[in-house]
Amino acid sequence: MKSKYQKIKGTFDILPADTRLWKEMENILHNISEQFSYEEIRTPAIESIDLFKQNVGYETDVSKEMFTWEDHSHQQIALKPEMTAPVVRAYIEGGFFRSNPLCRLYYMDSLFRREKPQKGRQRQFNQFGIEAFGSSNIEQDVEVIMVAATCLKALNINDTTLHVNNIGSPETRTQYEALLKKYFAQNTRSMSSLSKKRLDTNPIRILDSKEKEDQSIIKNAPIVKELLNDSEKEDFNMLLSNLDALNIKYEESPYLVRGLDYYNGTTFEITTRSNKSQNALCGGGRYDFLVEKMGGPSTPAIGFAAGMERMIIESQYQVAKNSIDIYISSNDLNHSRQCFSIMQNLIDNNYTVFFDTNKKNVKNQMKDAIKRSASYLLIIDKNITVKNIKSNDEIAVSDFHELLNFLKNQ
Ligand code: AMP
Repeated sequence: MKSKYQKIKGTFDILPADTRLWKEMENILHNISEQFSYEEIRTPAIESIDLFKQNVGYETDVSKEMFTWEDHSHQQIALKPEMTAPVVRAYIEGGFFRSNPLCRLYYMDSLFRREKPQKGRQRQFNQFGIEAFGSSNIEQDVEVIMVAATCLKALNINDTTLHVNNIGSPETRTQYEALLKKYFAQNTRSMSSLSKKRLDTNPIRILDSKEKEDQSIIKNAPIVKELLNDSEKEDFNMLLSNLDALNIKYEESPYLVRGLDYYNGTTFEITTRSNKSQNALCGGGRYDFLVEKMGGPSTPAIGFAAGMERMIIESQYQVAKNSIDIYISSNDLNHSRQCFSIMQNLIDNNYTVFFDTNKKNVKNQMKDAIKRSASYLLIIDKNITVKNIKSNDEIAVSDFHELLNFLKNQ
């Protein structure tokens, strides 16, 4: 039967068949973050439009659109399309730079982007990510990549490639931007229309283009590495040698600049080796100037964000099937008080119960209990009978304590 209402284009329900895997994945990500001493932060779903417009290039770049509206008090509101700007806002507002000089935060949250829905690209999706504030040392970059690699390993996501690059300082970026603009301007003939638009607004983003016709032009574009100074080159080499020592495999990707304007220094991305068009699992990098730009004190920072839907798809992690300890049959209203009292006691003793409020007959309840992988059938009428579904053993018990003894001795 067709439902009268359908979900909004680009959004998805996460149904009970999948929520166990989601919860398991979330637990793994919470645990690993905490093992590395990152603390969880939760920020509101709505923020002022300017937070994203002025700081991370949303709405200025042709392909980055948000869900926005003006509320009754004429405030311009956006559903958050990314997490770094809200986390930085909260970091500055909360004065964390005073109380916690080496502040490490992580999040799991829903984000909203008004982009063309396609496979792997949703209008509402979930990200897990971390942000580390307060250290400009390359050791911090190694640690952040180590967290990402540890998470993927724990989620049993194996067939991936880590791409790394260093895009230098903002001055390097400006020089590189000029160099790219000159190069791309000479090659507009076979360029995609999106890249042509970006030539004026943000030429660096042309390097992120997935359009077929742009690939041969990108392949011969100048690389940023040639503009790096000695200390930036040394940092990059240090990063790579530490990744080698950790046995984290990587590829140097000279064109990995990451879309948003605020990155500097290390940039990285983890992709799946499949041929899917949306193969990016995780992207991150350093953003040493964003905190100051947003009104805080000058604070170096680095982080990454990973798409949870895409991680779920790639994960080979197996979750145990949902199971029920005790299937309760109580079909006679006269015994409902006793039934609820036993049920409450079972719950308080950490048993999982399923109560058949439809009051099917016991034969059908038994069938249903088997289908739901229940371990015991508990029949409460004028007697209390408990039956081990596997062995078919059954006994009569007089009260909850006897029932508990029986269950514990099984
Ligand atoms: P970004 O914030 O654009 O750097 O994205 C970080 C990660 O989030 C990507 O590598 C994807 O795994 C995921 N992601 C980004 N946009 C979407 C989307 N529209 N739908 C699903 N996942 C996304």
